[in-house]
Amino acid sequence: MIVYKDWNFADTKYFREKTEKKQITIHHTVSGVGVDGDVAWWQQGTGRIATSYIIDREGRVHRCFSDDFWAWHLGCTAAHFAAAGVPYKKLDPGNIGIELDSWGALAEHSDGKFYPVTYAAGKAVPNLKCKPVQYIYEYCPTQKFRTIQYFEQYTTAQLAALRELLKYLQSKHKIPANYSSDIWSVCRRALQGQAGIYSHVSFRPDKSDCHPQIELVNLLKTL
Ligand SMILES: [Zn+2]
Repeated sequence: MIVYKDWNFADTKYFREKTEKKQITIHHTVSGVGVDGDVAWWQQGTGRIATSYIIDREGRVHRCFSDDFWAWHLGCTAAHFAAAGVPYKKLDPGNIGIELDSWGALAEHSDGKFYPVTYAAGKAVPNLKCKPVQYIYEYCPTQKFRTIQYFEQYTTAQLAALRELLKYLQSKHKIPANYSSDIWSVCRRALQGQAGIYSHVSFRPDKSDCHPQIELVNLLKTL
């Protein structure tokens, strides 16, 4: 596994405490091309919120801090556990976070182009301050994914790098590749802390990262 850039976060931006890792969670950043802004945002914060890795759209792996250590990235509250009928558990110390650089949810504008989503009076609308997004992944209009029909597509290079990274982390931390489609909804085994690879949506009903693009699902099935 090749790290393109080691960002070497300051010790105050994550917990420099070695913990046993049982879970891996895949997110997407909800931001435009490039990881500098994501990294700067986390480095400015005081909450020690970050993921160990970000994979950019060229498939380059950025490491914010070693996967031996940890930071907050799930944002699970007692209410998330209560809603799923699972006793509260502090999961982040045992959970390695990986971000895919991606806008995530998109909305179609009347010009026929797709833009990142912003919310106006609780309604998802295209954010015209952003540039239109080129690579669109469309869900079936009658099913959608978490009420969203269009997402930015994860790139082939990004998913190839994710595969390498997951293989590396699985081997290093002895995390099983027991794919099941339950990870695309709030998933009791995720909240119970069972070992495996999950999406942020496995933990929280209010998230839409990462989304089940078919190439990603196939990747997870064949680890
Ligand atoms: Zn997330």
